[in-house]
Amino acid sequence: MSKSLQAIRGMNDTLPEQTPLWRYLESKVSRLLDNYGYKQIRMPIVEFTELFKRSIGEVTDIVEKEMYTFEDRNGDSLTLRPEGTAACVRAVLEHGLTGGGQVQKLWYIGPMFRHERPQKGRYRQFHQIGVEVFNLDGPDIDAELIVLTWRLWGELGIRDAVKLELNSLGTSEARARYRAALVEYLSSRLGELDEDSQRRLKSNPLRVLDTKNADTQAVLVDAPKMVDYLDEESRVHFEGLKARLDTAGIPYTINPKLVRGLDYYSKTVFEWVTDKLGAQGTVCAGGRYDGLVEQMGGKPTSGVGFAMGIERLILMLETLEQIPEEIARQVDVYLCAFGEAAELAALALSERVRDQLPNLRLQINAGAGSFKSQFKKADKSGALYALILGDDELAQQVVGVKPLRGQGEQQTIAWDALAEHLAICIVQG
Ligand code: ATP
Ligand code: MG
Repeated sequence: MSKSLQAIRGMNDTLPEQTPLWRYLESKVSRLLDNYGYKQIRMPIVEFTELFKRSIGEVTDIVEKEMYTFEDRNGDSLTLRPEGTAACVRAVLEHGLTGGGQVQKLWYIGPMFRHERPQKGRYRQFHQIGVEVFNLDGPDIDAELIVLTWRLWGELGIRDAVKLELNSLGTSEARARYRAALVEYLSSRLGELDEDSQRRLKSNPLRVLDTKNADTQAVLVDAPKMVDYLDEESRVHFEGLKARLDTAGIPYTINPKLVRGLDYYSKTVFEWVTDKLGAQGTVCAGGRYDGLVEQMGGKPTSGVGFAMGIERLILMLETLEQIPEEIARQVDVYLCAFGEAAELAALALSERVRDQLPNLRLQINAGAGSFKSQFKKADKSGALYALILGDDELAQQVVGVKPLRGQGEQQTIAWDALAEHLAICIVQG
């Protein structure tokens, strides 16, 4: 195929054999969030570039080098969203959803775009499920967000493979004091820092904590720690969160180097990390951002949220072989019809059965074919049963119900009794 007809590097098709797993994950998450009282919001994929600059921060990896930014025909600078929080805050403000201190518990799902180096677990179009809560400022809601993700890991069968890391970044004043101490310390050992960290020390010093460079990491061992600079309010908040997690029995470790890539976090930050995916170890990350709404032009409004990477969760399910059986099978029954008259009757019969069993996954053979070829297709479909309709069956108004997965003998069932019979078979099968 000519190059121009290939997908863009790092932007993947999700093929039919993969979509059942995606839909399984999506339905698990959406049901769970429904049950906890979160409501879905859908935002556009493209926003004014200014939105991301103002919310994410000019000196972040995302804004400095990862955004897909272009000028549209009006000359406006637009950007494919690199994350969901900015647009969610914009939407909430634009529609007055947090006015008068209204609480909002929201979630969204969809593609995000970042120009990064594509590799396993890291793509240029990837998908996130995100949650954002507004106007609740206590540690109870931070704990709820963590508890519900913990439940999700349990439901997905990946709980043993993820670990929770926590930190508190304090208020912006506390962070400013800490930043000053960190800059003083790192400046005294400037020569030992890698080039990128030297640059970050000037532009966004907390990000030095995030470094992957071993030499710089060695320097960081003796660096001042944020916990020692926490203000009283943030300290109490953090203690409240830890107490709730302890009571709920959720294990965690405090990671003083956890700062998150985005500028807007304050107080609680957390990540769920795994060692099952190589370098791309964070499956879910979030935290509190009490200053963001005001920074974006709204009234002071507390906020807390997280986002999880769908591709990384899919990789986890595959790596840990936690793919439920119900998604491996996409067809319950496959209807084979032999001869013109039977074919005609097959469609009407299958519609009747669908009326009676709306959840039945019934596939009807298309394109005729011999006995042998239709059975082959029935078997390949993964169906539990083949329904057989030939001239004899037609004359007697019955069908043959043939088990394809070795459960018993073929039976002959009257059309009138078919739905009831299948309902029992499928539940038992
Ligand atoms: P990382 O440190 O892996 O780059 P991040 O801090 O940039 O992650 P966030 O912006 O917090 O990530 O996004 C939340 C989650 O979205 C991540 O924990 C990850 O699971 C997922 N994610 C982020 N970037 C990508 C990407 N390029 N490809 C696939 N998933 C991603
Ligand atoms: Mg990143």
